[in-house]
Amino acid sequence: MSVVGVDLGGTKILARVVDPATGRTVGRKKVPTPKDGTDAVMSAVAELVRDVTASVADGTAKGVSAEDAAEAVTAVGVGVPGLVEADGTVSRCPNIPGWDQPVAVKTILEADLGLPVVVSNDVNCGAVAEHRLGAGRGTDDLLAVFVGTGVGGGLIINNQLVVGERGMAGEIGHLTVVSDGRICGCGERGHLESYAGRAGIEREARRLHAAGRPNALVELAGESPIKSRHLEQALAAGDEVAHQLVDDAVMALAIGIGNVATLLDLSRVVVGGGVADKLGRPFLEQIMGSPDFGGFGPQVCTLELAQHLDDAGVLGAALLAADLIEN
Ligand SMILES: [Zn+2]
Repeated sequence: MSVVGVDLGGTKILARVVDPATGRTVGRKKVPTPKDGTDAVMSAVAELVRDVTASVADGTAKGVSAEDAAEAVTAVGVGVPGLVEADGTVSRCPNIPGWDQPVAVKTILEADLGLPVVVSNDVNCGAVAEHRLGAGRGTDDLLAVFVGTGVGGGLIINNQLVVGERGMAGEIGHLTVVSDGRICGCGERGHLESYAGRAGIEREARRLHAAGRPNALVELAGESPIKSRHLEQALAAGDEVAHQLVDDAVMALAIGIGNVATLLDLSRVVVGGGVADKLGRPFLEQIMGSPDFGGFGPQVCTLELAQHLDDAGVLGAALLAADLIEN
């Protein structure tokens, strides 16, 4: 049996044919995300699934074996950067141009492809990939936190992904960590993401710069967005503002992760995403050593770096597709 995992992103759509028993990729393809509305996006996803499936079946995919080519694709998993309802409708998807109303992704793709389709939030897909094929292997319960432009999270309890009533379970980025604190991308104040996400760090770095505290983050990035590597470079150069902003990020993550780990009695939390990947193990150690680490503190829970970066979403989507067949 093989399955297809799809990662639908704001700029590109990735698809892989995966052997779900091992997580091995048998074939892969990608296309740019269409900018002219959700009908075009749905057609592009279906076309890409057909293309990548055909490239394995006819043996044109790189390194595909005769056994791989003989395996029929039995299900498709799609990870989307949005809010997914229980029936596979994606109600909000702000990073994809033209997604201004709910789209019944599961229904549309099942009709087009003639295969069972599961739709899940991309961060939840990442959590599933880390749990089964990454740094969360061997645990029954896991929180995966992804620190990138924003901060996303996925929660596994009893080896099952928890999505919650409205699809928002695991959204650690919107926990309040500072009363009346910095304004968050969602409009509320004091959320974890406004301190630890790259966009929140950038807003604060530019505000400080304009208020008379010039800093290496703004100088390195110029007019372009501040990247994780700028953060790494500014820290290495001993920039005071960069150190202060990373200390703020550590505080926010320590409060949020510690409290969640205490509430759910977790013994392991996986931390990934662009910022965590760049700052690496020292960043995790700073979080674990923080006096702000919430609840019972890091003695009950260890933080591990995620093992998958860009492919976590597509792999997790494939694993969720395999569950459709097995369950
Ligand atoms: Zn928020």
